[in-house]
Amino acid sequence: MVKRKYKAESKRLMELMVNSIYTNKEIFLRELISNASDAIDKMYYKSLSDENLVFNKDDYYIEISFDKEERTITVRDTGIGMSEEDLDENLGTIAKSGTLEFKNELAKEDKTAEIIGQFGVGFYSSFLVAKKVSVLTKKYGDDKAWLWESEDVEGYSIEEAEKDSHGTEITLYLKDNTEDDNFDDFLNEYRIESLVKNYSNYIRYPIKMLMTKTKVKDEEAETPEYEEYKELETLNSMIPIWKKNKSELKDEDYINFYHDQHYGFDNPLTWIHINVEGAVSYRAILYIPEAQPFDFRSKSYKKGLQLYSNGVLIMDKCEKLLPDSFSFVKGVVDSEDLSLNISREILQEDRQLRVIAKNIENKIISELKKMLKNDREKYEKFYESFGQTIKIAVYESYGMEKDKLQDLFLFYSSKEKKPITLEEYFKNMKEDQDKIYYATGSSIEVIDKLPQGSGLKSKDIEILYLTDPIDEFVLKVMGSYKEKEFSSISQELESGKEEETKDELFEKMKTILGDEVVEVKASENLGDNPVALLSRGDLSIEMEKVLQYQEN
Ligand code: ADP
Ligand code: MG
Repeated sequence: MVKRKYKAESKRLMELMVNSIYTNKEIFLRELISNASDAIDKMYYKSLSDENLVFNKDDYYIEISFDKEERTITVRDTGIGMSEEDLDENLGTIAKSGTLEFKNELAKEDKTAEIIGQFGVGFYSSFLVAKKVSVLTKKYGDDKAWLWESEDVEGYSIEEAEKDSHGTEITLYLKDNTEDDNFDDFLNEYRIESLVKNYSNYIRYPIKMLMTKTKVKDEEAETPEYEEYKELETLNSMIPIWKKNKSELKDEDYINFYHDQHYGFDNPLTWIHINVEGAVSYRAILYIPEAQPFDFRSKSYKKGLQLYSNGVLIMDKCEKLLPDSFSFVKGVVDSEDLSLNISREILQEDRQLRVIAKNIENKIISELKKMLKNDREKYEKFYESFGQTIKIAVYESYGMEKDKLQDLFLFYSSKEKKPITLEEYFKNMKEDQDKIYYATGSSIEVIDKLPQGSGLKSKDIEILYLTDPIDEFVLKVMGSYKEKEFSSISQELESGKEEETKDELFEKMKTILGDEVVEVKASENLGDNPVALLSRGDLSIEMEKVLQYQEN
């Protein structure tokens, strides 16, 4: 038997986690069940490509049992199992897939307990309740089985063991009770049942447990006597949430599903439950997250929705279902109209899929417009997180997406002192106003001080303040809104009248300034300000700055 040490960072994280005043210890069960379900999923995926493996539904399940005397809880699955290397790789490094985000968050904030609550650190959450954990496992296709054991944060051991069939059996040896924590609480079938129903109800495989039942001993007897017996019961409903009616579901159900599916560590801002019957029928639940996914700005981020065909997962991230403008949307689509044995290539050409994607896009747009109309505060929150994504999509489509998306934009208004839509600007326009004016700058305060704006402001004309570097590019690509052209206030200055008498002075100034300027002109649009800088040609000064920045 070899003693092995945890990777250094794992050890530190584990200590942090176990020692933090973490109240929500019960999540360990959810994590173990999720892992068991993932392991069965892997068998399912394997069966898609492996002709020798038939996925017989009845053979795949998760079973929970406990032993009151030994004070142990065991979670067993018939999934893919782990080899010796897998054990070393996956259980020797803390919560592999979650590690990076977890560490980043820890670095950012000083709220360890809360963060652990949000993340759930997977397998290691076992140590919230267990003083010792043992993992007996056999990988599908391997001859050897292995026993992994760990009693503390120092290390673990792996030795060869015996196990009949593939899968994993994880046993937790509960910690001793303390004044604050009675770990024996978990050695109770009703407690376990309620945890499963609460956290793992939609796991697609049966989660079974022996439950105590009573029956009448002797039907004939005058005074009925009862006897207890045990029966293996399935605790989870397994019916996917999207197959249920909206009326059956509470907000909590949607939010739980969002977390169960690992869509995000935040809470969803809102969701859309779709049930379309028609030429192409499908069901979907789409979520608009509150915050940007942690890797949203990185290259590794992949958009997409989970695609099911009649309850069976086909693809975890179907990109074709989401336009770039809504790459942040999370969720699931289930359609019976997709043929089941589709290979991924064929699926991508699927016309049905395009119909669904189009439909989904429209639903998202109308949901956002509804939010904009009915809950402005929520919409502004949404826009803060994802407004830029929509703007980039319009810019990158060379304006093709303009008509669809332009009414989702918000820009800060000089008059309202808050973000407004283009439509609101349009409605506020003066009768003879033929342009939509904007100004660019690094912040509202900076733009507010621009002398170029004072002329328009004194005429009570509204100006949109563009603070996001992409804003001006987007307006350029759009050109106009409802036939009103966008116009930068710095270009407006050019309409100032020149008088011959001033020409001489300006000539003189030009000679002094030399190459620094192209031209010196008079303007009526400066208000109280003596002078303003402006750029020639099509680009504003701010935009030139951005271009210069990009060239470097
Ligand atoms: P995550 O599930 O986010 O990857 P975990 O800490 O929960 O992180 O699990 C770490 C890894 O250990 C899993 O990715 C998986 O490879 C392996 N693992 C855990 N439990 C099981 C299991 N029951 N069967 C097979 N592999 C497992
Ligand atoms: Mg996990």
